Amino acid sequence: MKVMKFGGTSVGSAQRMKDVCRLITQDSTPNMIVLSAMSGTTNTLVEISDYLYKKNPEGANNVINQLEQKYRQHVDELYATEEYKQKTLDFLKDEFDYLRSFTKILFTSFEEKVVLAQGEVISTNMVTNYLKECGVKTILLSALDFMRTDKNSEPDFNYIKEKINELLAANPGYQIYITQGFICRNAYGEVDNLQRGGSDYTACLIGAAIKSEEIQIWTDIDGMHNNDPRIVDKTKPVRQLHFEEAAELAYFGAKILHPTCIQPAKFAGVPVRLLNTMDPSAPGTIINNEFQEGKIKAVAAKDNIISIQVHSSRMLLAYGFLRKVFEIFESYKTSIDMVSTSEVGVSVTIDNKSYLKDIVADLMKYGTVTVKENMCIICVVGDLSRDNVGFESQAAKALKDIPVQMISYGGSNHNISFLINEEDKKSALQALSDTLFNN
Ligand code: ADP
Ligand code: ASP
Ligand code: MG
Repeated sequence: MKVMKFGGTSVGSAQRMKDVCRLITQDSTPNMIVLSAMSGTTNTLVEISDYLYKKNPEGANNVINQLEQKYRQHVDELYATEEYKQKTLDFLKDEFDYLRSFTKILFTSFEEKVVLAQGEVISTNMVTNYLKECGVKTILLSALDFMRTDKNSEPDFNYIKEKINELLAANPGYQIYITQGFICRNAYGEVDNLQRGGSDYTACLIGAAIKSEEIQIWTDIDGMHNNDPRIVDKTKPVRQLHFEEAAELAYFGAKILHPTCIQPAKFAGVPVRLLNTMDPSAPGTIINNEFQEGKIKAVAAKDNIISIQVHSSRMLLAYGFLRKVFEIFESYKTSIDMVSTSEVGVSVTIDNKSYLKDIVADLMKYGTVTVKENMCIICVVGDLSRDNVGFESQAAKALKDIPVQMISYGGSNHNISFLINEEDKKSALQALSDTLFNN
């Protein structure tokens, strides 16, 4: 069985849904399909939630009604028979009445999670009905029955593995198994999600849990590009990445993949293939265990980074200083991305500023603390082992005109990261592309 995930644009119109159905029914073996909400829907659900938080039911109802109209049009275009048109319209009526019911009750983060979940609930129902209308043996498995997070809001992999395998064993003989990306239940059984872009994570968790032959992430571009195509000109697809390289790129801002989705695939050893729904025969990118020597593969950038520098002459020749500093971050459940040390100080970066004030107050016991916000990590990925002499200097040379605040190199064999001001991001990414890939 393959796991095939289709993102928002891939299911963004009635025609796209039909294209997806053609793609997923080409194999003789069954496939597990993970779908996102139609593009724009989750953003609209966020907008509705904002109105509800602000106690503006009229604003929310207007947006809900507009969204309902759009979906009714999709139904008109998608189904050929009156039976399936009516069936889906009835389903949509219940769905939108349900959304309207939130305008009459107290709205908290719990209700918001339920509202945000409806985009995937709707898209999977529509596609399931279309496949059934086409005579394909299809079953819709609710992600809320097997996707679950633990008390730390991390996926509960053992639970997911047990439940999805039970569900598949109890429902043999289907050609297509469909489920929702993004949505799950938390440790208390409440509706929750895997953060924005989380459908990739759902697909990789399922692929690892059922040990699928491959996890395919179908999107609107022909694979992982060597730089961010939204920012830089002339980017090109990278044909192959090691799990570690892809994980690094996803974590450091390559939006094509959810930041942590590669981990489960890597642990299970299931290859991940990135493919383009708009050009299905394009080769895309394969992510597996192979490591290509002597190549710089790609660059990514992560915004909203905060740098914290602790300067202390007490660090000189002292032991235990770094432990004390790191313990402060641990006590505030704040993870550190980059680290750089000298004899008299340490600099770190974080991306979560929820506890910034408390962290700084605690760090001040150990020295002078300087905080800078609006920073950006630029991450260069590829063969950056020390034997590959000169590659790190090429990356540094590309950034010769850009003020660099920190460099992190040697933490692994396939990454070098630079901390710069956010305003220099575009020129840094372009300079890296020009130097590393375009000559
Ligand atoms: P989906 O809705 O299918 O999940 P996303 O919008 O989340 O799609 O991800 C695909 C988009 O990621 C592309 O359209 C592209 O603009 C963006 N992107 C950012 N960095 C990269 C990269 N390095 N390679 C490919 N796409 C990237
Ligand atoms: N629909 C969700 C979002 O827009 C999840 C996803 O598309 O992966 O973030
Ligand atoms: Mg995405």
